[in-house]
Amino acid sequence: MRYVRLGHTDLTVSEVGFGGIPIIRLDEDTAVSVLRRAYESGITLFDTANAYRDSEKKIGRALGEVRDKVVLATKTIIRDAIGAVEQLENSLHMMKTDYIDLCQLHQIAQETEWDIVTRPGGALEALIKAKKQGKIRYIGVTSHNLAMAVKLVKTGLFSTVQFPFNFIEDAAKDELHIAAREYGMGILGMKPFAGGMIDNAGIAFKFLREHSDVVVLPGFDSLERVDEVVYIYRQPNTVTDRDLKLMQNYRNELGKQFCRRCEYCQPCPQGVMITAAMSYKVIASRMSPKVAIEFSKIPMESVTLCTECRECIDRCPYGLPIPDILKVHYYLYEQHKAESK
Ligand code: SF4
Ligand code: SF4
Repeated sequence: MRYVRLGHTDLTVSEVGFGGIPIIRLDEDTAVSVLRRAYESGITLFDTANAYRDSEKKIGRALGEVRDKVVLATKTIIRDAIGAVEQLENSLHMMKTDYIDLCQLHQIAQETEWDIVTRPGGALEALIKAKKQGKIRYIGVTSHNLAMAVKLVKTGLFSTVQFPFNFIEDAAKDELHIAAREYGMGILGMKPFAGGMIDNAGIAFKFLREHSDVVVLPGFDSLERVDEVVYIYRQPNTVTDRDLKLMQNYRNELGKQFCRRCEYCQPCPQGVMITAAMSYKVIASRMSPKVAIEFSKIPMESVTLCTECRECIDRCPYGLPIPDILKVHYYLYEQHKAESK
């Protein structure tokens, strides 16, 4: 396991971090044992979000005793200062700490969101103040929208940027990662398995390890998964022609089937929350169907408003058949609701 400095910060972290979503579906004792196994195996960066239900609480319980040996990263999805402060205080309480190493503005994808967080009384003002108070060490940002992510990097306001990165979604390696390096920012790669579409960890990490300053954040839901990933990272990395061909096969097969959450398709004239609803299948597999029906209730109910006008399809750069996928996801959501009764 290598350790990497995050840009110009003084945070040095394991080259592979711990993504906090999948522990949502684990009971607390199991989640704690998975987190501890990761820590004992050399993983030192733990990334979660206030929105990931009890993930922060589980991290706090598992790592409270080794707080000074780990880097804790979380995110706030709240856009106004008052709400962001409340959420930060909650994160501190849940993670049993008096400081967050890296607090990120969560999923800034649209200009409107950027306008809200940066206006007086916006969330960014609150995070800057919290940093001065010592409650946050560094401020970062996450996005699924490439153009917006590049813009956010170039503001010079953030210490890190987190964006999807895997061999199917590799667009970030060009302009975004280059700009982040120029601005001295740490680069965090979310979705190393393309939201579950890549089912071969070996090949996924072969690609990612070629990008040595990108710290990737796979989710872990078992001790075996931790052991598997740590084992991979302890081996030398060799990418063969056969590996490249396999990656290309995945790209050909899956590249046009899944949603990157870039939000170019929005807004929907009927108010369908397209991006969140397009993610339902992945959310259900990562959080558990029982949690997902509650977590995704508002976006999934909005799917019933779809008139199949197809406007969104024209705006999707990947040409996804959005209304058809929404229908499939809505059917799955209804099934999960029925099963949970
Ligand atoms: S097809 Fe449905 S989701 Fe897409 S823009 Fe039209 S109403 Fe909205
Ligand atoms: S449906 Fe297409 S445009 Fe909309 S978020 Fe997904 S990938 Fe982006």
